[in-house]
Amino acid sequence: MAREALVIVDFQNDFTPGGALAVPRGDEIADRLNELAGESRFDLVIATRDWHPSDHSSFREQGGPWPRHCVQGTPGAKLHPRLDRSRIDAVIDKGQDPATEGYSAFENPELEQLLRERGIERVTVVGLATDYCVKNTALDALRRGFEVEVDTSATRGVDVQPGDSERALEELRRSGAKIVAGGARVP
Ligand SMILES: [Zn+2]
Repeated sequence: MAREALVIVDFQNDFTPGGALAVPRGDEIADRLNELAGESRFDLVIATRDWHPSDHSSFREQGGPWPRHCVQGTPGAKLHPRLDRSRIDAVIDKGQDPATEGYSAFENPELEQLLRERGIERVTVVGLATDYCVKNTALDALRRGFEVEVDTSATRGVDVQPGDSERALEELRRSGAKIVAGGARVP
């Protein structure tokens, strides 16, 4: 059996309803995330955090596309309170570099290092948001040679343009990721 990791991307207060950059219905995935994190097939469960300096280039004040969000140490940057921390083995922060977008959790080399150390071959990517950080993290995992699964029962998208999440999943599928919904394969 391939050794597997679950990567929960950016399930943080600012990305859930009430937050600075809320993903519509982003909080709905909490129970499913906890359920997945408890599955025995995962040898390692990682949660990532968007963790920006206050002058990050993705913020509107700096000419970027997004409102200020997930500033290091603020309540908005905390992992969502409904995420069961007892099931998380490691937290990896990303987006600290003021100059890069930080959409992919692999921008922090600690993620790949940890996966390699633990002999992980297959990565299931879930969390927020489907069309940005989930997509880019999953694509980077594929580029680094991991088998990749995205479970849409535990992701939600921003959909700035309608259909962005669907297009992101299509791109992932074309790139070699397996797309599942609650364990059932989506063709
Ligand atoms: Zn961000």
